[in-house]
Amino acid sequence: MPKRKRDIDPEEAKKKVLEYCLRKGALAAGVADLDAINRIAPAGHRPNDMMPRVKSVISLGVGGQTQGAWTVPAKAMAFFGSTEGRAYTIAYGLSFFIERTFGERAIYTPPDIDPELGPRVPLQSLKLHAEMAGIGARSLAGDILLHPEYGYMYFASVFTELELPPDEPMRENPCPAPSCVSMYRSIGRTPCMKFCPIQCLSGAIDEDGNQAEMNYDMAACAEMTQQYETISSVMNEVMSAASAEERESLLHKPENKTLWYKMSVGSGGLLAQCFECMRVCPIATQAPLADPIRRLEAAEDAAEEAAE
Ligand code: SF4
Ligand code: SF4
Repeated sequence: MPKRKRDIDPEEAKKKVLEYCLRKGALAAGVADLDAINRIAPAGHRPNDMMPRVKSVISLGVGGQTQGAWTVPAKAMAFFGSTEGRAYTIAYGLSFFIERTFGERAIYTPPDIDPELGPRVPLQSLKLHAEMAGIGARSLAGDILLHPEYGYMYFASVFTELELPPDEPMRENPCPAPSCVSMYRSIGRTPCMKFCPIQCLSGAIDEDGNQAEMNYDMAACAEMTQQYETISSVMNEVMSAASAEERESLLHKPENKTLWYKMSVGSGGLLAQCFECMRVCPIATQAPLADPIRRLEAAEDAAEEAAE
């Protein structure tokens, strides 16, 4: 059946799409330029490799940790630090919203790895989508995207055949922060480089205080963070059990039962990161709207100002 023609104003449609994202809890959302993504993403990982008639790539970001989370030790952070599930939920809902509102195809873009290319190659780079949509810029901490207002976010994308006008990448990169430039001038490293427990970050800052070089040892970071990838660690232990009895007792031992409980109630944090580079990052932890307390205070200030 041919698709019914609808008169859709792209600017108006974009407004509705972005409003949906913010209403559902995203802090930031934008539309990435498809041509720009195609110039950067390698063949096989471009949006139309997944959705042949894609016209627009929407990226949204949700807030990272609560302010409290940055105060806990790494071993605890590993269990509850991440909020990416919320980003994926909004993106999933957005794909349905677009189809039922505009009658154009949309998909929630899977954040998953490419099953043909191994564990560290994603099907699509959600990071590239967010960067091109102007809601994050690459940092010296392994290219983690940072936002000057919201700090550290988790991102999700939606592809659609709906035509939407694109945004531009951010003009200014908040990384390195002025205090990081000062530290670099004094000891040759920024906080993320200095406090990475296995020194897998290095780089350089130029005379103007901008990023000149960034090096990230992804394999070393993965090895470090794997110790917290608790589900994988449990399965590894279980599969190497010498007998059925031992396997059973490993699956049911109290520490592991916590994980099955967390899975059954849909808790995040079954896989984790080390987070030390972000814990010491002034943008991730101190950007004006980086956590719910700062956002509350900003809303209170705005309300007070409006009442004056
Ligand atoms: S996550 Fe940990 S190991 Fe990886 S770069 Fe950050 S501080 Fe280093
Ligand atoms: S600590 Fe944060 S702002 Fe500073 S250099 Fe590292 S990533 Fe950039």
